[in-house]
Amino acid sequence: MSGPATNKDDALLRLVREDLRGFGGYSSARSHPLSGEIWLNANESPWANPADADSRCRRYPEPQPPALREALARLYGVREEQLLVGRGSDEAIDLLVRALCVPKRDAIVTTPPVFGMYAVSARLQDAPLREVPLVDGPAGFGVDLEAVTLAAEQGNARLVFLCSPSNPTGTDVPLAGIAALAQRLAGRALVVVDEAYGEFSDQPSATSLMGEHRNIAVLRTLSKAHALAAARIGTLIADPALIRVLRACQAPYPVPTPCADLAIAGLSDEALARTAERVATVRSERARLATALADMPGVRRVYPSSGNYLLVRFDDAQAAFDGLLAAGVVVRDQRAAPQLGDALRITIGSPEQNDRVLATLAVQEAAA
Ligand code: PMP
Repeated sequence: MSGPATNKDDALLRLVREDLRGFGGYSSARSHPLSGEIWLNANESPWANPADADSRCRRYPEPQPPALREALARLYGVREEQLLVGRGSDEAIDLLVRALCVPKRDAIVTTPPVFGMYAVSARLQDAPLREVPLVDGPAGFGVDLEAVTLAAEQGNARLVFLCSPSNPTGTDVPLAGIAALAQRLAGRALVVVDEAYGEFSDQPSATSLMGEHRNIAVLRTLSKAHALAAARIGTLIADPALIRVLRACQAPYPVPTPCADLAIAGLSDEALARTAERVATVRSERARLATALADMPGVRRVYPSSGNYLLVRFDDAQAAFDGLLAAGVVVRDQRAAPQLGDALRITIGSPEQNDRVLATLAVQEAAA
């Protein structure tokens, strides 16, 4: 299925660290296509653990479980060879930085305020970090794509991370902008679009651009809309040539069998229909909460959101945070993030949970 290497593969693989381009990775007992009845090649136990009633975990798992890959390819509308499945999208972020950036030389570009793991992975790899602040405008926080392009070109970036919908600010990065950026950075950098919250957005996935732009990669996860955060199933969608290299850099057995089985069941038609209903509820609750919050006197601004959260500025964010906490509601304090000195991020809960948020803040305002 993967086909022979082409010149275009070469152009894309130039984005990978020179020393890793031909790296084969660990050759595990599962790497060899052998068959037999009695498996004595991986130092596994011949008996199941007493707690493992159906002996699912006695032997090492498939590195990339085929049924899960099939389900994810269907879910995301891509080919299986475009997928890398790992322990949350966090693992894929880290893999990308390690495989593409030579320490101290190859930079990553981020757009703060934004999800913190891109910078953490850069720090761990000692990859320079170029930050291009989001611009706070009338429609919410937006990416300055011209500044991102310049930072990538002038700052020797191998990776540009765009978060869409962006956490914590809530806005989508327009597809036309992503395509233009990828065009400008072709042969220089990979544009990674983190769509952890894509299910809650109206905008189509950036996977729709990948036929035209091989230097676009997309991150997806089952942790948010699919309610499987503890299963740790994240997916990187990218060009098959790049996926092959990254697979060689990944841990030998990254997907635990109980997690894969749960994810496969969680992607059945029936489960997907329930998930879609819940996404619809979150979206309508998001609108309800945004309107109600915007009407409250102590609220300075509620940002439009395509995710399952709202970014809210308060006259007194400390009081709002403390009041919610005293009522048993824990929200995310964003005040340490750049440009967000008065902001909290509130995840959209169930209708009852959202009622509690509104009631608590209303009581607080009345007392203020
Ligand atoms: N990307 C974004 C934007 C996130 O907000 C998160 C989780 N907070 C992740 C990726 C990581 O998700 P996971 O590792 O659970 O897939």
